[in-house]
Amino acid sequence: MDKIKMTTPLVEMDGDEMTRVLWQMIKDELLCPFVDLKTEYYDLGLENRNKTNDQVTVDSAEATKKYGVAVKCATITPNAARMDEYHLKEMWKSPNGTIRAILDGTVFRAPILVKGIEPYVRNWVKPITIARHAYGDVYKGVEMKIPGAGKVELVYTAADGTETRELVHNFDGSGIVQGMHNLTSSIESFARSCFSFAVDTKQDLWFATKDTISKKYDHTFKDIFQDIYDTEYKAKFEELGLEYFYTLIDDAVARVIRSKGGYIWACKNYDGDVMSDMLATAYGSLSMMTSVLVSPKGVYEYEAAHGTVQRHYYKHLKGEETSTNSIATIFAWTGALRKRGELDGLPELSAFADKLEQACIATVESGKMTKDLALITTLEHATPLNTQDFIRAVRETLEASL
Ligand code: NAP
Ligand code: MG
Repeated sequence: MDKIKMTTPLVEMDGDEMTRVLWQMIKDELLCPFVDLKTEYYDLGLENRNKTNDQVTVDSAEATKKYGVAVKCATITPNAARMDEYHLKEMWKSPNGTIRAILDGTVFRAPILVKGIEPYVRNWVKPITIARHAYGDVYKGVEMKIPGAGKVELVYTAADGTETRELVHNFDGSGIVQGMHNLTSSIESFARSCFSFAVDTKQDLWFATKDTISKKYDHTFKDIFQDIYDTEYKAKFEELGLEYFYTLIDDAVARVIRSKGGYIWACKNYDGDVMSDMLATAYGSLSMMTSVLVSPKGVYEYEAAHGTVQRHYYKHLKGEETSTNSIATIFAWTGALRKRGELDGLPELSAFADKLEQACIATVESGKMTKDLALITTLEHATPLNTQDFIRAVRETLEASL
């Protein structure tokens, strides 16, 4: 069989620990035998980030802007313990944060559904994709402890020096106060990423805030979304039979629980933080969660939602057997390859991505799975496999389907 051709390279961002081990296995077993893989390689492993003073992360994000599609392995975000472990020159920032800032993107997370791993919410038969606005609000909040009686005000000083004031509270005694902000440009980018991704994946878009209580702050989010929808996306949504649906956050959570899934839920920063953890847990497994960063200009970076699975890596280093689930990392590759296929007019490449995804699902549904899934599956004849054997089992299923 001839290998499937690619025309434009994928931006390949290698990473750390157990996911770096998976990365190589996936390429060797599941990609290179079938696809004439073209990538522009960036080593985002912590050692190389340290060596290049993190320039490699910036370069990989710039390359993503240039080519349009990237696939990223999980990476370590350094903390104090990692400073010693890797003899770091600096506590380098989270690569995901750096890349997101350069691409100005929004992260969309969706679970991979398989029979035998049942969501806690029985009626969720389709994935719910969550989009979290990743700028501002309480994450850029400025806080004060108020020691005793006094007045707190918000003061805006315009460029010409004129002041506008708003009383926050006249304190009789001690208390606390917080000031937070967001930017019109950031909310607009968020909205455009959400509408584009909805069109791209042909799913309805839901958005919710607390605009009844927050009549200026949250209401601005609602208005910006509505304006951008009306002027830029309404026609496209109608053509595709899609719906943009705005409601109050309280109403949204109730509807989400009663829904069948199959839509994108756009969330403000805090809502997205909390709700994405709830959804990941409710769908059954963190190791089955995919993630894609979408820029308002339509640039895509695919990855798994989980981290580098450090505990498994230390076992692997000691020569012990591991059973690490590679599915979300495989889906990062298939997401990127499918998108490359769409952009470059290579239906064979997109079809291969579909087949590889189906092979992962069919393998699990046949009872062959890694330990994390074997522990929670409702299938009666599950066989737990080690890291390598699971990837080989996927390869066998894939070969049978090609
Ligand atoms: P983690 O890598 O997501 O793993 C947490 C635990 O979840 C694992 O110990 C494992 O549980 C289970 N798990 C996660 N993925 C799994 C998989 N594919 N297969 C089987 N089990 C899986 O989070 P962490 O250990 O807290 O973080 C490790 C490193 O990842 C940190 O340095 C962090 O900075 C980084 N991180 C990176 C990203 C990213 O690049 N996007 C995201 C999050 C974290 P058991 O140990 O019980 O088997
Ligand atoms: Mg969280």
